[in-house]
Amino acid sequence: MLVFIIGLTSIAYANPIDNPRADEIYQLFDSGGFISDKENRKLLDEYKSILSTDDIVRQKLYIRLNCWSLPTNTTEKIKAAVNYADEYLQIYSQPTPSLIGIDLQYCKAWYLHAQGKNDSLFADLDAAITSAYLLEDPRLIADGRSIRGSILSYLGNFSAALEDLITAQNLYESLNLTYWANVNLGDLANSYRRFGDAQTALKYQIKLEKNYLQNKQRYEANLTNNQIALSLEKLERYEEAIARYQKTHDFWLTENHPIAAADASISIAGNFINLNRLNEADDILQRAQKLITPDNDNSYSYMNLFMAEVHYLQNDYDQAIIKINNAEKAFNFSNNIRGLNQALQLKSKIYQASQQWQQAYEALALFVESHLSLDKQVFSERNAEMQARFNTNKIQTENEWLIQRDKDKEAQLNIMQRNEQMQIVIIILVAIILLIVSIFAYKQVIRKQLFRRLALTDELTKLANRRDTYAQGNHFLSSSKQSGRPFSIISFDADHFKTVNDKFGHNMGDKVLVKLASISASMMRETDIVGRVGGEEFLILLPNIDKAKAIEIANRLVLTIEKYDWSQISAGLHQTVSAGVASYSNEEDLSPLLLKADKALYCAKAAGRNCVKAA
Ligand code: GH3
Ligand code: MG
Ligand code: MG
Repeated sequence: MLVFIIGLTSIAYANPIDNPRADEIYQLFDSGGFISDKENRKLLDEYKSILSTDDIVRQKLYIRLNCWSLPTNTTEKIKAAVNYADEYLQIYSQPTPSLIGIDLQYCKAWYLHAQGKNDSLFADLDAAITSAYLLEDPRLIADGRSIRGSILSYLGNFSAALEDLITAQNLYESLNLTYWANVNLGDLANSYRRFGDAQTALKYQIKLEKNYLQNKQRYEANLTNNQIALSLEKLERYEEAIARYQKTHDFWLTENHPIAAADASISIAGNFINLNRLNEADDILQRAQKLITPDNDNSYSYMNLFMAEVHYLQNDYDQAIIKINNAEKAFNFSNNIRGLNQALQLKSKIYQASQQWQQAYEALALFVESHLSLDKQVFSERNAEMQARFNTNKIQTENEWLIQRDKDKEAQLNIMQRNEQMQIVIIILVAIILLIVSIFAYKQVIRKQLFRRLALTDELTKLANRRDTYAQGNHFLSSSKQSGRPFSIISFDADHFKTVNDKFGHNMGDKVLVKLASISASMMRETDIVGRVGGEEFLILLPNIDKAKAIEIANRLVLTIEKYDWSQISAGLHQTVSAGVASYSNEEDLSPLLLKADKALYCAKAAGRNCVKAA
């Protein structure tokens, strides 16, 4: 019973399906600790292969992980990724909101962004984030706002982007999700830099670099170092910027990536120009030119811009014109408005210096036009920034509330789980007590039955003893009194038993008594009772048997005992019995009937024994 109860409770309370390896893999993805794309796919395939089909919870997790891990290197693959998210969104649209539904919406929005379909993604993405708030799930809220923030920042909507990214940042940090906090921090810093607040960007970038260095993420730390250099340059801290670019340059050289190293050196040259160290700049640019081709579009366009600037400052206008035209073409090609702006301004200056007024004017007109549009953008971004900063306090309070709610929920869950465990303990204890009590009760019953049997049984012959025989006799007699049916008794006694004891010993006498008991008991019906009522005296109770029939039975008994081969027990032994029969005829109780039978028995003894007499 105990095992049964424990089994039952463990079925009711245990985690439905245990799969520690699957959980380990999921943890790896969830914390962002995975390495390469190849490894990513391998782990996902393993995850899928070790799930049982009825493990619905983990099957859903697989769909979520898989959605985020789909390849996006071609337009067809991105389209397939959107379709994948759509397909499962249809399956998991109910109930709403659900973890899987929200996460798939995020995933779909991300791929729509990759497709450039930015206008159509916000309605669903906003709804999914609202659902995450309904579920009060901080992790899901952080993910949604980080994704939306990143997309908004890309689209230049900095006020909304910053609000999202700051919210996500606080949540990730509170939830100790370091990897995702760093990714988000990168987006946050980028957003500030994009809209011209290099000071704030720098603050976040330095924090981010520290995180990456602590985690030994060298690549990420290097990219961040490069971002820091850009911010320093914006802040006109050229010497520090050069030191940072130099670090990036050295990193790429040790990584055997000369093109990336050359790109960093071009940035160094730009800063040397700002410091008016033209020879050093020229030196670097000459070396870079041997590696950089028009295919390296970003590096190529800045290399030409800086070369043009060096030539211009050294009054070599012809060379300057050639280089600035290269730069303008490359910036136009890569659609880099800021770079183009710089190039047009320099171009105008070069033409002015070389007194080619018409070209100077045309370049200037183009410069003013592009500069105005850029200014307008920067101005609106500045307004947005003010608003985002104002909202930061509100965001912080909201986040603290959310985290607190999450902690409360966790505490509640813990209490509930503890209560459940207590219930199980109580159930088990009660079961144990019940078991012990019932074992005791059972033993008690068995013991009582044993005592009863001992009290009513003759030890030697195992027949009913005198007390029991008389009690049953009285019972049969009163039944007959009620029903009017006959009831007879046979009293029989071993003949000359004293001599048996004398000749064969007391032990042998006992064996004779046991044999007499078994012969007589085996001859009677189930309903009859044979009892040992004295030393060598027996009484047979025969309900529903009349006198004639009883005499017949008694004769058969006497004859059977006489015919028994007593020499089996001991050589020379022979045993007979005498019997007296009496039948019920309105006696008050058993005593007078017994008396009648005993009298008949006495008569049988007197008649020479080994015979039957009836009262
Ligand atoms: P009768 O034919 O007149 O009945 O002669 P008897 O010898 O059987 O009668 P009596 O009453 O004189 O003797 C009974 C003997 O039975 C006396 C006693 O030693 C013996 N006896 C009584 N109970 C037991 C017993 O439990 N075991 C053995 N071995 N002998 C017993
Ligand atoms: Mg006798
Ligand atoms: Mg006797």
